[in-house]
Amino acid sequence: MPIYEYRCRKCKHLFEVLFRSRDEKMTVTCPECGSTRTQRMMSAFAGKIGNTSDGGAGCGSCAATTCGPS
Ligand SMILES: [Zn+2]
Repeated sequence: MPIYEYRCRKCKHLFEVLFRSRDEKMTVTCPECGSTRTQRMMSAFAGKIGNTSDGGAGCGSCAATTCGPS
């Protein structure tokens, strides 16, 4: 079961949420203040948060689209 780290946008509280399945969509409520304005944190914290481009199997660290096996 995947565990995702969430951050509350209201009180900045960090907490983890256990999902029963990877595709499960549910409203995550902050355990501290009860706000539903929560944001999932990427597990690779050093990655580019907010990058919406789908890089596929690329290395993600270089701009070349030819990076990796072709
Ligand atoms: Zn909160």
